[in-house]
Amino acid sequence: MKIAILSRNPKLYSTRRLVEAARNRGHEVRVVDALRCYMNIAAHNPQIHYRGEVLENFDAVIPRIGASVTFYGTAVLRQFEMMNVYPLNESVAISRSRDKLRSLQLLSRRGIGLPVTSFAHSPDDIEDLLSIVGGAPAVIKLLEGTQGVGVVLAETNQAAESVIQAFMGLKQHILVQEFIKEAKGSDIRAFVVGGKVVAAMMRQAKEGEFRSNLHRGGTATLCRITPEERATALRAAKVMGLNVCGVDLLRSNHGPVVMEVNSSPGLEGIEAASGKDIADLIIQFIEKNAKPNRTQTKGQ
Ligand code: ADP
Ligand code: GLU
Repeated sequence: MKIAILSRNPKLYSTRRLVEAARNRGHEVRVVDALRCYMNIAAHNPQIHYRGEVLENFDAVIPRIGASVTFYGTAVLRQFEMMNVYPLNESVAISRSRDKLRSLQLLSRRGIGLPVTSFAHSPDDIEDLLSIVGGAPAVIKLLEGTQGVGVVLAETNQAAESVIQAFMGLKQHILVQEFIKEAKGSDIRAFVVGGKVVAAMMRQAKEGEFRSNLHRGGTATLCRITPEERATALRAAKVMGLNVCGVDLLRSNHGPVVMEVNSSPGLEGIEAASGKDIADLIIQFIEKNAKPNRTQTKGQ
């Protein structure tokens, strides 16, 4: 097969591993920087141009689209879909996953466990916004944050109100969540490939920190998840329409709750923690599924 990997940087661990896994399985693979693609959207003959040539005859495309280039990256992916190239994750599913509110609303509609959450832009009644989640301690998040930046734990109502006011001053959308104290600074990343949890790791925040992001000094270890956690992760992936994703769960007193579903989950942490060749599993999934016209949305 001929596989394109949409990635800005061929040196990134995940990109390198996917290239390696595809080549090991006998495929031709090319790393394409979405931002350098330009496209022809004339009727009947969608094309993608790249560095002066036309990208043609690809069977599958693996999107590794960073959060900051979601808009243009998904447009390029949609163009591949219009050309009947099988996307590992579809453009609509990626766009959906990048909108945290839309994701939480979709997941809640299907009854998937979530932290009690309220959201706002410029609430007139901050006290009421806080009371929705049971008051302090509460976690306040900037909707646009990634890697734990813009996620604050407010221990008292007074602190929570000040943080909300400060975020409001930045004219940002905010999420207010019950603090899942019983998770003790750890969360679970369940890595889903084609309707199976292929590996799971627990990330533990460093001492004195509640955010378990590896970028915030957290550490990852292999973890056994319960059947309920497995089922929750798989349902979340299905609702989001993602073939490959990382589902982040917290162990709460009211069962597993989904914090986030990541449509470009990194391979480094999970391969190191599990010792599994996840890149190879992803390529195997593509081999089974990349038949022409398997794209349901065709970018619609
Ligand atoms: P980001 O998308 O920026 O990583 P998250 O929403 O995943 O932000 O939050 C970062 C970390 O903070 C999580 O990995 C988790 O460890 C912790 N955290 C987030 N929300 C809660 C919560 N409601 N209760 C307890 N811990 C939380
Ligand atoms: N950089 C990835 C993204 O924004 C997130 C990696 C991860 O947390 O798994 O899609």
